[in-house]
This record gives sequence, structure tokens and C-alpha cells, in this order.
Amino acid sequence: VDEPIPFDAVIAILRLSNKYDIHPFRQKSIQELKKVFPCTLHDYDSIYPNDTYTTLSWSHIVKSIYLARACNTLELLPFIFYILGQVSMNVLFRSHAILPRTEMEICLLGREKLQEMRETVAFSYLIDPKSSQHCLNPTICEQQRLLSLNALISERFHAGTRALMKADLETLEMIFCRPCAEEKLSIHLAAREKLWNDLPSYFGLGTWEELRSAQK
Ligand SMILES: [Zn+2]
Repeated sequence: VDEPIPFDAVIAILRLSNKYDIHPFRQKSIQELKKVFPCTLHDYDSIYPNDTYTTLSWSHIVKSIYLARACNTLELLPFIFYILGQVSMNVLFRSHAILPRTEMEICLLGREKLQEMRETVAFSYLIDPKSSQHCLNPTICEQQRLLSLNALISERFHAGTRALMKADLETLEMIFCRPCAEEKLSIHLAAREKLWNDLPSYFGLGTWEELRSAQK
């Protein structure tokens, strides 16, 4: 029996098991929440292979912040704030009544950081002008790099905070020659891993390890 438990039920179970200190139920509900709010990059990639987060309502996301703080499951927070960073400013500001000011501040500061990171870390493969030593046609690769960079900059206000967006070899080969694409891919994957590792710090939450040990 491993069907997903409805989100509201998971929340209720975590609250109760936390209140009455029922360890197995608490663990189970945390496990369920991690299927929505991943705590490793590996889990993120299997849960959100296309980087779209449509399964959760806005009110569930806000409820989850309260829950994570109240039940000391802080490990869930970096991803909750990451998703919150995808919400439009318009929606965010209309929610000031349900989202406390302190959480709003964390969200906005993190959002700014994500935007910066998206450009400097997640897309470092477009910013770094270095072609592969084995490049098949440096002039074309450089030209393609600049075109893609230009496209990225002009669309950044639409997808500005989706810093974890993943590129694959197929996509990169549409821009670069094969040897360049392979090198750019490994730069991209390393940068993305760094971004994931630093994610808690964007929201003033320290490191993943600190969050993990704080909730035991
Ligand atoms: Zn090349």
C-alpha cells in the first residue's frame, strides 16, 4: 500500500504526530512531504523532470511554511521558498495577509538571489566564452553562444527565478558542436549542483546538513 496520501491529510498527520510525539507517523508524513518538497537534487530531478511545479496550490505552499516551522521540519523549507520564488510578484503581494512579513522578506531576498544565480551559475555555460580544445568550428560555436545568451537575457523577466532549470546534451547540441556541448554540459551540471547545495543559504537557512541535524 504505497498510494500517495492527499496533501491535506499529510499535513494533519504531521501536526498530530508532532504534537503527540508519535515518531513513526511523523517520519512517514515527512517522507510524503519530501515527495513534494525534495531535499536532494536527485529527488528534485525525479519528481520534477521538466522543472514545472503545477501540482501544488498557492495556499498549500503557504501552509507548508507554517507547518515546517511549527513541526521543526526545516529541511523542507529551501524548496518551499524556491517554489514561492516562482510565484509572480502580483500574487505574492496580494498574499500579504496570509504570508507573515518575515517570511515575505525571506522570500523576496531569496528571489533576488535566485535571479542572480540563474544568470551567473546555472547559465555559466553561456557566459563563459571558452570553446572546447576540440571544438569543430570555434567561430560558429561563439556566434551561437552569443545568440543564446542574448535570448536568455531578453527572456529573463519571464523565467527569472527558475534557477534549477536543467539543460541536457540534446539541447546543448542545438547550440554548440558536440565537443563543446559535452564540456558545457559538465560545467552546467556542476554549477547546478553547487546552486542546489547553496539553496538553503539563499533563504537564510544555513546548510542542508544543519537543517537535517536540527530536525532530528
Ligand atoms: Zn564548438
